[in-house]
Formats: sequence, structure tokens, C-alpha cells
Amino acid sequence: MVSHGDRVIHFWIEYNGRMSSSHDLHTHSTESDGTLTPSQLVERAAAAGVEVLALTDHDTLSGCQEAAAAARSAGIAFWPGVEISVSWSGTTIHVVGLRVDPESAPLNRGLAELRDHRQWRAEEMGRRLAKRGIEGAYEGARALSNGRLVARTHFARFLVQTGVVEEERKVYKKYLTPGKPGFVAGRWAALADAVKWIRDAGGRAAIAHPARYKLSNMKLTCLLKEFRAMGGEGLEVISGSHNPGENNAMASLARQHGLLASVGSDYHGPESSWLELGKLPKLPVDVEPIWQGW
Ligand code: AMP
Ligand code: MN
Ligand code: MN
Ligand code: MN
Repeated sequence: MVSHGDRVIHFWIEYNGRMSSSHDLHTHSTESDGTLTPSQLVERAAAAGVEVLALTDHDTLSGCQEAAAAARSAGIAFWPGVEISVSWSGTTIHVVGLRVDPESAPLNRGLAELRDHRQWRAEEMGRRLAKRGIEGAYEGARALSNGRLVARTHFARFLVQTGVVEEERKVYKKYLTPGKPGFVAGRWAALADAVKWIRDAGGRAAIAHPARYKLSNMKLTCLLKEFRAMGGEGLEVISGSHNPGENNAMASLARQHGLLASVGSDYHGPESSWLELGKLPKLPVDVEPIWQGW
């Protein structure tokens, strides 16, 4: 027999389980292209009311240990994660792995290869920018990365700091996107490999910020079908880089394809974020959250 009080409690748990504002499952630290250290990120998230945080640095798990310790001190839950760079059908796609084992050997081997490729790409970007008269961009980006992996983000920051371009958004448009002088197409992981590494590490894979790729409906459908057939389980329905219409459209796609819904700000730091931590719209009630069963 369930008493009235139990029912209230069950309703409360169910309701809160769907409140996405307390989950932020896509964030970056100084271990990739964020500007806060893992500890600073965790402290800021806790202060903003985040109850469950995942750190998902690009192609590395190196911040997870520090973040986990900081989360224990701050009294919030922490899920180790990663954002894997994938090349799929001529496009770069990002796949988030959540609740992965940071010690997983196959995952760490795969990520190490991606970081090697990233290093080559960063040097090549530097050479191409130098041909356009922009000297020292690789060294500058490398210095801004504090010896961690170098992303286009570090190049963007360097070109703004040195006055070559007024703002970061314009750097991508002028120099760092396909067809532009500093762009070097990455040859990233195969989608199937990224999904397999995440699953081998005990985690769930989700397609990050699906509305950002500007894929046609047909191509996006194709991606989601392939992804699901490979063992991918989630779609980032709510992203700091989506507008409200895109969040709704992605919720429909998650339902249509039987994918679990994830939620993440894609936070990169106080000065360069789409959205503040802990300020995410709620997940619609008719999608299943990716933390279902966890
Ligand atoms: P990479 O993985 O080195 O190609 O760098 C990708 C990162 O660059 C993304 O995770 C963002 O942090 C950043 N980025 C890419 N495009 C843009 C953009 N248009 N505006 C702001 N940041 C961007
Ligand atoms: Mn980034
Ligand atoms: Mn991304
Ligand atoms: Mn990201």
C-alpha cells in the first residue's frame, strides 16, 4: 500500500528528475578550451545551483579527477565526461560521453590519438596563418592553452588579443571555418569508434548540440539513425548554443528516434560562454532524460 505521503514524495522525485535546471552535462575547463580550472568550474556550478555536473573537455579526461574532488567538497554530484571530435560524412560532429570511467584504456587510447592529431593540426594552422602574414599564431595559441591541448578557441583568443580581429566570433568567420585561410579540416574519430570507446568505458553517448551543424533534415535523420544503430543513446536536446525553437525541434527528434535527452550549457568560462552555468531551460516532460536509471 502506498500512503498519500509516499505518493507526494514519488511525485516530487519524478518532477525533480525532469528538472533540467539542476543538471549541466556539457562544460569545459582549462584542460581543453575553457577558462576556469576544473575546481573553479565546479565551485561556480555549485554556487549557481547546479546539482549534477559533468565535465566534458574536448578529447581529454585529464580534468575529471580534480573536478570529482572539488565536487565532493562542494557537495554536488559529478559525472566524468568527454566531448569527442568525430568526422562524419565530411562534417565535424561532437559526441559527448557521460559517466565514463576516466581510467578506461580503450577510451584513453582513442583520445590520445585525437590529441596527437590536434597537435599536428594546430601547427599546420599556424603555418597557414603565417602565409597570410599572421606570425606566431601557433605559439600564441599554445601559450594560451597553458600546455594543454590546443583548440581553435585558443587561436581565436590570440587573434583578438593581438588586435588582428575585433571579436572571437569574427575570427571563426574570417579565418577558422571551412574555406578560410587558417582552417585545417580535422581527421577526427569515426562515429562508430567514438560510440564504442564511450560504451566500453561504461558511459552513454549523446550527439552534442545537434542544431549547430546546420545539417539538412535528411542528413540529421541519417546521422541519428546510424548513431543509434551503433549504440548511441542520447541527443543533447537542450544546449546553451541552441535557441528555444531548436531545443523544441531537437526534443521532437529525440522522441522520434527513441533517444534519451541530455542537457548542457557548453560552458567555456565567464567571458566566453553561450550561457551561464545552471541557467538552462527545462527539458520538455515528454522526453526521457539521459540520467534515467542512474
Ligand atoms: P576545435 O575542436 O579545435 O575545432 O575547436 C572547436 C571549438 O571552437 C568549439 O568547441 C568552440 O569552443 C569554438 N568555436 C567554434 N566555432 C565557434 C564560433 N562560431 N563561435 C564561438 N566559438 C566557436
Ligand atoms: Mn570548445
Ligand atoms: Mn562542441
Ligand atoms: Mn563543448
